[in-house]
Amino acid sequence: MRDIKKIILHCTATREGKDYSADTIRKWHMSEPRMWSDIGYHFVIRNDENGTIERGRPVEKKGAHTLGENSNSIGIAYVGGVDKDLKAKDTMTACQEESFLKLVESLRIVFGDLPVFGHNDFTNKKECPSFKVKKKFPQLGV
Ligand SMILES: [Zn+2]
Repeated sequence: MRDIKKIILHCTATREGKDYSADTIRKWHMSEPRMWSDIGYHFVIRNDENGTIERGRPVEKKGAHTLGENSNSIGIAYVGGVDKDLKAKDTMTACQEESFLKLVESLRIVFGDLPVFGHNDFTNKKECPSFKVKKKFPQLGV
């Protein structure tokens, strides 16, 4: 097992109100221009009525989601993150929030008390996940 030290949250940068499956996102990531070997994220939180959590790339495998941070992190993406004009917007639904918090809790049981970051904690070129994780989820203690 690789050494996992942190969780990084992303958005899929897809329009508010739309839902996409991990399989669809996998197809995007495996085709032009990316041509990756698999979906970049380890988990996807759907924008459906339950905030369904889907597995992406197996956690044992290094993901492709945050430049310079992939080898020791788990990447989670919630579906959404932009408004109809593709401008960054916190579109996380109550169900997605609940699923995200449950997922973090489960991962912490397995991997220890991992700190949680947003993609935008590692770059100022991206707004992803369209909010500051620290501010939105103070209960995660990061
Ligand atoms: Zn991101």
